[in-house]
Amino acid sequence: MKLLLIGPPGSGKGTQGQLLSERFNLLHIATGDLLRAEVEALTPIGKEVVDYLDRGELVPDDVIVDLVMPVIFDAVEKGGYVLDGFPRSVGQAKVVRQMSDDDLNATPDAVIYLDVSRDELVRRILERAKVEDRSDDTEAVISNRLQVFEEATHPLVSYYRLRGVVRTINANCSEEEVATSIIESLGDLVPN
Ligand code: AMP
Repeated sequence: MKLLLIGPPGSGKGTQGQLLSERFNLLHIATGDLLRAEVEALTPIGKEVVDYLDRGELVPDDVIVDLVMPVIFDAVEKGGYVLDGFPRSVGQAKVVRQMSDDDLNATPDAVIYLDVSRDELVRRILERAKVEDRSDDTEAVISNRLQVFEEATHPLVSYYRLRGVVRTINANCSEEEVATSIIESLGDLVPN
């Protein structure tokens, strides 16, 4: 099973991705985590992307595609993935489709759109900032990340809706309630 989580920062993609990967034994691929690991390890990629992360901007497509596509194909061969954070624009989704073929198809079976109100998002991110030390969890950068989501990532929902794979989840509630709604929404994709 190949699942893609789409949602603004603070919508719970990380938490739900972890839960779904454990429940269905799928590889959880969180591109923000992969990029932060590169930054921390001071790799050439890390040095190239650090300013983008600090500003809450998307890193260039070629960088993220080269980093994540091999991991995605590997997961597809091993039975599936839960993707959290990629594709993050229609352009990136088209790259996934173009790189796929009948033998190795990396496009998602289901796209889970976590819908959360803006007030709740800001509240959750500021809460998270108290426990995690993320350089992009400040009020100014959060506002930019929400804008980047609206402009670059939200159009992905329509893109996948045209392909009939979107499940919209009201994610204003607790982690457990959101997880239950997601699993229900997957219907017959879920193995018995
Ligand atoms: P996240 O942890 O998913 O909120 O991602 C943190 C940051 O990593 C984002 O604000 C972007 O700077 C970068 N990033 C993560 N995924 C992507 C992607 N698919 N394309 C471009 N930039 C990304």
